[in-house]
Amino acid sequence: MGVEPPITGITRGGTLWVPQFVTALDESKCIGCGRCFKVCPRDVLTIVQRAVDDVDLDDDDDDDDDSDNSFMTLSNAMDCIGCEACSRVCPKACFTHEALPLAA
Ligand code: SF4
Ligand code: SF4
Repeated sequence: MGVEPPITGITRGGTLWVPQFVTALDESKCIGCGRCFKVCPRDVLTIVQRAVDDVDLDDDDDDDDDSDNSFMTLSNAMDCIGCEACSRVCPKACFTHEALPLAA
């Protein structure tokens, strides 16, 4: 049995590219900044509130734009098109991406 070829796209100019689909989001590293949500074109992401017990009230991290009482989740991962825009803007490297085989 051979290796399945990855799902492959093509640019308008005819260049092939391999989408890198989101396979995981590390919620423990997420600061809830919302950058990924703003750039995702496919409504893959949803921000949710942390449980009160999980909020770090003494966080001395110097991130100015964080929101420690919320974090991002993969709510609709099957709609991801693998554009990687989320990772380009994420300040905490929360996302894991993988090329995926054509066959399910
Ligand atoms: S790779 Fe693109 S489509 Fe997928 S979650 Fe990130 S921004 Fe959204
Ligand atoms: S960009 Fe990164 S840190 Fe900001 S909300 Fe998205 S996953 Fe969390």
